[in-house]
Amino acid sequence: MKRRWIVATALVVTLTGAAWGLKAAMQARCWAFGAPVLCRIESDEKLVALSFDDGPTRAGLDAILPVLAKHGARATFFVIGAEVESYPDGVRRIAAAGHEVGNHSFDHRRMISPFSTAYRDALAHTDRAIAAAGAPQPKLFRPPYGIKFTGLARALDGKTIAMWDFEEPVARPGGARAYADAVVAAARPGSIILIHPMYASRTIEREALPHVLTGLKSRGFRIVTVSDLAARGRADAISRR
Ligand SMILES: [Zn+2]
Repeated sequence: MKRRWIVATALVVTLTGAAWGLKAAMQARCWAFGAPVLCRIESDEKLVALSFDDGPTRAGLDAILPVLAKHGARATFFVIGAEVESYPDGVRRIAAAGHEVGNHSFDHRRMISPFSTAYRDALAHTDRAIAAAGAPQPKLFRPPYGIKFTGLARALDGKTIAMWDFEEPVARPGGARAYADAVVAAARPGSIILIHPMYASRTIEREALPHVLTGLKSRGFRIVTVSDLAARGRADAISRR
């Protein structure tokens, strides 16, 4: 009887550990099953990439694009295919302003399939929406919630998985200024910074952006797209941890 309990406990511990390990692997910042990942790019230059996820929305772009233009900054927007279809002019505005458009799935569902078909359909559908809106084909894919599983690598069709090395603060008791200070302080040469400024609840992110850009520039950083950052970084030093 006692022996049976020991075996059952060992089994539960093993399965829990395996599930935890699998979850950690699926959410890894700089690693994916069978595909390289950009998360931070070693660079001798003080370059940093700002990446804006979700949408696009009219309110988000109205707030963001003029600030980027004022600072001569080029950013990367990871857009959701379904939202591109309902607001194609958003992608046109992003591309016309010289920013990069990345693929962020069709409907922002958690993509946890071991098969490539689901990924392939979602990526292709979003690519078609982006092309129909008049922007170049995305070179980058950012998985919703940063979750990647085995089916993704075979569906990338030449795209690179783009993650990040710093995500905006979740708790922001100090308002826009404290949020901006946290983002600026976290930047390192070659950083890819993730910001969610598109939806109505994200007023702090939008209010903080001018301070983020001023702060990064005062630290000597130039803001470039993720693809520009990858191209200028040392190819042998792209983080694949
Ligand atoms: Zn997202």
